Amino acid sequence: MLQSNLYPTADLRAADARHYLHPFTDHKALAEEGARVIVKGDGVWLWDSEGNKLLDGMSGLWCTNVGHGRPEIADAVHAQMGELAFYNSFFKTTNAPAVRLAERLAAIAPAHINKVFFTSSGSEANDTVLRMVRHYWALKGQPNRQIVIARHNAYHGSTMAGASLGGMKPMHAQGGLPIPGIVHIRQPYWFGEGHGMAHDAFGLQAAADLERMIRTLGPENVAAFIGEPIQGAGGVIIPPATYWPEIQRICRKYDILLAADEVICGFGRTGRWFGSDYFGIEPDLMTIAKGVTSGYLPLGGVMVSDKVADVLVNLGEEFYHGYTYSGHPTCAAAALANLDIIQREGLVERVANDIGPYLQGRWKTLADHPIVGETRMVGLIGALELVPDPKNISNRFTPTGAVGSIARDYAFQTGLVMRAVRDSLIIAPPLTLTHAEADELVRLARQTLDLTYEELK
Ligand code: PLP
Repeated sequence: MLQSNLYPTADLRAADARHYLHPFTDHKALAEEGARVIVKGDGVWLWDSEGNKLLDGMSGLWCTNVGHGRPEIADAVHAQMGELAFYNSFFKTTNAPAVRLAERLAAIAPAHINKVFFTSSGSEANDTVLRMVRHYWALKGQPNRQIVIARHNAYHGSTMAGASLGGMKPMHAQGGLPIPGIVHIRQPYWFGEGHGMAHDAFGLQAAADLERMIRTLGPENVAAFIGEPIQGAGGVIIPPATYWPEIQRICRKYDILLAADEVICGFGRTGRWFGSDYFGIEPDLMTIAKGVTSGYLPLGGVMVSDKVADVLVNLGEEFYHGYTYSGHPTCAAAALANLDIIQREGLVERVANDIGPYLQGRWKTLADHPIVGETRMVGLIGALELVPDPKNISNRFTPTGAVGSIARDYAFQTGLVMRAVRDSLIIAPPLTLTHAEADELVRLARQTLDLTYEELK
């Protein structure tokens, strides 16, 4: 029997309020309103315990690229658990699913990336990057190269290093972050910070901040730059076309390692396997999670270029780093089944050539709405910027975020899961979205905008 059928919603809500400390949750509001209990997922659809059907416009939390309820993944997990549910990969041991997954990931990654270090999450993967790049430079005889440059409003996770690499001010304000050796430069957010400039000129200007920061710090002290190809949690910030080539040029010029956080952009979200492929970035390291298993089980990793791996493998002493669940066989089996689906159903190509362009076209039609200042989307990741007057997009709602939250709540009421970031609405639906479901998504988004507009009148 399903767990969710065993307990009445009211009981679950009461126990939730008593015992469950949630991630990123306003617990006072939660206690007043009661948690929404999600009981079932199938394809792009979710159901809550009160029978409401929701279109999951956020793929869970940017994860379920192959959609909910795929029996192939459940079967693979069941079979692997029957054989070897868990064993570790420490001290020269290994297991078949982890090896096969590493091989598979190397085959889909850019040609110069052939190794992977497994973690259980994106946060752990980014923590690993911080330790790995410092270790790399120490092995190369440049131990002063300690500093990692990241960006304001980036999201790289919630561990000490993840939250420090991230550029979220409210997170830094709690617990004395960032930890030492991490600095932040501006983000390539044209709608928020580039008004009055051509997109391309703004992209170059934002990237120039990296060079300025490297010179200020001294290149001999800088280990790496890290960035999401498209900032997800920061508000689906799609950089101008000039941005990444310039970042790449600067990293090469000063011999700074380039780490791409592919936790959201990876596994087809942009219509390429990785956001780095989409933007033509050649990263030295790529962090992955989420879409690698479509969220069915927790798994992440750092994909490591030959340049970095050769040093880690061949120079000096071993890297004293690892997680109990690095290379977890059952999670790896889930990832393999997930990659099978992505490849068999051609989901990456589908996002590039079919559902991506289709949804992008439909999404753009929302630009005529009286509170929409911009629509943007790459592949199946997009945003709407809400403003009081689209003719004057530098004018914003005050206080920031209030209108976004109202709109997000209306979205839920109409049956669409979107996320609000400041006063923008975000979507990243499963890559299996059909044309009819895309139409429905846009219809519900328009209804959400109408309800929000009415409330503001
Ligand atoms: N990096 C990016 C770009 C993310 O969006 C996230 C999570 O949303 C993370 C890292 C952290 O991943 P996790 O929540 O699996 O630790």
